[in-house]
Amino acid sequence: MKTLDHWIGGKPVAGTSGTYGPVTDPATGARTAQVALASVDEVDTAVAAAKDAFRTWGTTSLAKRTAVLFAYRALLDAHREELARLITAEHGKVHADALGEVARGLEIVELACGITEKLKGELSTQVSTRVDVAAIRQPLGVVAGITPFNFPAMVPMWMFPLAIACGNTFVLKPSEKVPSAALRLAELATEAGLPDGVLNVVNGDKAAVDRLLEHPDIAAVSFVGSTPIARHIHTTASANGKRVQALGGAKNHMLVLPDADLDLAADAAINAAYGSAGERCMAVSVLVAVGDTADPLIEKITERAGKLRIGPGDDPASEMGPLITRAHRDKVASYVHGAAAQGAEVVLDGTGFTVTGHEDGHWLGISLLDKVTPAMDAYRDEIFGPVLCLVRADSYEQAMELINSSPWGNGTAIFTRDGGAARRFQLEVQAGMVGVNVPIPVPVGYHSFGGWKDSLFGDHHVYGNDGVHFYTRGKVITTRWPDPEDGGVNLGFPSNH
Ligand code: NAD
Repeated sequence: MKTLDHWIGGKPVAGTSGTYGPVTDPATGARTAQVALASVDEVDTAVAAAKDAFRTWGTTSLAKRTAVLFAYRALLDAHREELARLITAEHGKVHADALGEVARGLEIVELACGITEKLKGELSTQVSTRVDVAAIRQPLGVVAGITPFNFPAMVPMWMFPLAIACGNTFVLKPSEKVPSAALRLAELATEAGLPDGVLNVVNGDKAAVDRLLEHPDIAAVSFVGSTPIARHIHTTASANGKRVQALGGAKNHMLVLPDADLDLAADAAINAAYGSAGERCMAVSVLVAVGDTADPLIEKITERAGKLRIGPGDDPASEMGPLITRAHRDKVASYVHGAAAQGAEVVLDGTGFTVTGHEDGHWLGISLLDKVTPAMDAYRDEIFGPVLCLVRADSYEQAMELINSSPWGNGTAIFTRDGGAARRFQLEVQAGMVGVNVPIPVPVGYHSFGGWKDSLFGDHHVYGNDGVHFYTRGKVITTRWPDPEDGGVNLGFPSNH
């Protein structure tokens, strides 16, 4: 069996803890590899490598840093297919979706290539007589990134390209369910000329994460994952004096007003609810149908759902793949059964679905639940699977009340032809990312990504300008080149003149 190790100091490093986690192909259910789970000592080795590398990388010229990033961008571009295949083999998502993930990750590498523009700083001359003030931003040191299973390449790429462009060094702890893409990203970075130790990957579970959260040489932690773990990361790392951004889970609502184009809305709902088998933090999991839109939407979604092809991610005919693990598949299925018991109408029941020839894969068909209410578990919990809950609302106001009562606030969308309603929605809704006739409003790389409420702990979103701010700290330098006439004793508080 293949063993996946760590990447420390620019080379693969075998695990020494003696503990391993299983890596599975979700389409077959077969175990394809084992991944080394780092001990505290192994995490410390990675942090030491990063700390050592920071001594030179932190002061390496912008020209040299960006030269590496441009070379990295070209290498990643040439390896899109390979990276997508690695993602599909461990995550299960279909190849086209995996390619999309790589492309969205590349956006951040491209942003990092232009870091010179972001780090230019500010200068005010003659703020007082012969006094100038400069504001600069400097790297933090060693930064840790902890990432979820559902975007094995993109979420790590939300973090480390910008962090290292800003002059930090990085220790990445990817999801132990999908380690290969992250390891390959690190290997390609070394190939692109990134000095040893600037980007390290330690595989592991809670033990490795908890060591990163308390390690005295870690300056900041970027986390993306579920809300309970995001809260733990934020609380623990903050208590240990670290800068933290911890992005959590979601329950994203898509509101459809009666004047919307219902064919477009049905297309959008089905793409956003079932794409990547619903395992996206920006998936639409609640459809809020206002007025008389519910029945036609159900009809249109049902018609489209019947044509969806579910199968192995490496089959070009497949549009939706399996779920990450058997346990997760069973948990998602239990929400469909539970919703029925709690009074929802199961319009489409994907439980019991299988793919001939791949019976041990983690399959689930698509489910659509109607007449869902906020009291039901299917509404209250993040299901993270191909289950769309439809809630009927009488009015825009009732729909808005529902959305804003959610503890989460990651993404949301409105479908309407009414500009005034859309404008009102974008101002009133409590969520970090809003789509107007766009169901999955993931911001482009040069804006920032992040939710509100229980979808993000910390005050910086990821990538874009927020990412640059997160990975740097400000310094303001006040300078006077004295002239003999500036002398004289004055114990007053400095003021401008
Ligand atoms: P998860 O929270 O289980 O795991 C995320 C990371 O935390 C992994 O690296 C894992 O090893 C580590 N981890 C797990 N349990 C831990 C513990 N007890 N202590 C310390 N570390 C621990 O999340 P997941 O199942 O891998 O990913 C799915 C979740 O991520 C969903 O909730 C989804 O909404 C969320 N997500 C959010 C965003 C966003 O941008 N807000 C993006 C992608 C995924």
